Amino acid sequence: MNQYQHLLQLDQQFIWHPYSSLGSDMPVFPVVSASGVQLKLADGRELIDGMSSWWSAIHGYNHPQMNLALENQIKTMSHVMFGGLTHPPAVELAKTLVEITPDTLQSVFFSDSGSVAVEVAMKMAIQYWHDKQQPDKQKFLTLRGGYHGDTFGAMSVCDPVTGMHGLFNQSLAQQFFIDTPSSAFNAPCNANDIENLRSVLTEHHSQIAAFILEPVVQGAGGMRFYSADYLNKARMLCDEFNVLLIFDEIATGFGRTGKLFACEHSNIEPDIMCIGKALTGGYLSLAATLTTQKIAQTISNGNPGVFMHGPTFMANPLACAAANASIDILLNSNWQTKIHTIESWLQQYLSPCATLAKVKNVRILGAIGVVECHEAVEMKTIQSALVEQGVWIRPFGKLVYLMPPFIINEADTRGLCNAIFSVLK
Ligand SMILES: *Cc1c(COP(=O)(O)O)cnc(C)c1O
Repeated sequence: MNQYQHLLQLDQQFIWHPYSSLGSDMPVFPVVSASGVQLKLADGRELIDGMSSWWSAIHGYNHPQMNLALENQIKTMSHVMFGGLTHPPAVELAKTLVEITPDTLQSVFFSDSGSVAVEVAMKMAIQYWHDKQQPDKQKFLTLRGGYHGDTFGAMSVCDPVTGMHGLFNQSLAQQFFIDTPSSAFNAPCNANDIENLRSVLTEHHSQIAAFILEPVVQGAGGMRFYSADYLNKARMLCDEFNVLLIFDEIATGFGRTGKLFACEHSNIEPDIMCIGKALTGGYLSLAATLTTQKIAQTISNGNPGVFMHGPTFMANPLACAAANASIDILLNSNWQTKIHTIESWLQQYLSPCATLAKVKNVRILGAIGVVECHEAVEMKTIQSALVEQGVWIRPFGKLVYLMPPFIINEADTRGLCNAIFSVLK
């Protein structure tokens, strides 16, 4: 048995993959190394990466500057507990994050994954209202079609149909949902969308701690883009009804939509913001929840006077060093031009998919390209067919989409787009 088959056999026997069943016949591909935008499989095949490993590997793989930062940090200190101790990589990262995120966000809570960053955001909102003597504000308002993670609090604000609400119905907190804004990106906000929001807030604001949403791009819940102007209106209504505004920028942060953070497409700032995914350039798992001075002060001066959360691996020095290096690489690159260029390549090479009978529409924003089909794609066959074409693209439901590393060139972008075209054809 060769290495490829050996890995596959043991994998099938012992390991769960994301949203998988054990021992299933869904294909899994053993990767042995990755460099730049190429993934190398155990049988020697090379694939162009169209996924950035779920939005995270924005500088590609095996990046010399990232590697060096991590090697240096390993030699200094890989981990130390964060209770009662602090360290240079965390301090540097927190300072940078406060500088590059919206002005009102002034404090940083580190955690190990996006889902936990969302849990932390939700707990902050509840604790804030508790300390403002409004203990009834424990529920959340969110958009249908959203995705915020797989832990219980995060699950409760994921889309109630495509999410896991049926299965976990008895254990999940019941939240308030409104329709995804119908207004298109770059269009002014539709009056209906605002009326929906106003009517839920009017009726239930006394129970609602915060409105949580992914600004401008709904990611794993359906890859939808919507009007940034909606965010402006949402801010006004949240203020009017004493509801906090939480932006989940875990997918959209760090340049993907053409702005450093997607909320910059609007004119407003959230009260709490979650980041993750691309934070470490895809090297290690790290996330953060940022909030305003007002919220941080209220929680800190309230009862019990501390924020009730503290992960074991909070602010892991290696992960913070990766984040510091990644942000440095990003900010010292010509990232805005690069995203704009990738956007124009996607316009040029992905748009032809719209002519295919199977395809409902093609939409592109920043370094995100989405092909939506009329019917759900057959994962098993399409996944293998894409690998046969020499690309790594992971479709879900009706969607075949691209979010390549920012370092990708024109030929590889065209290769990714052409592969989608031929496979869908
Ligand atoms: C991926 C994602 C999460 C969850 O992050 P994990 O690191 O997978 O826990 C939350 N919100 C959004 C918008 C995401 O895209």
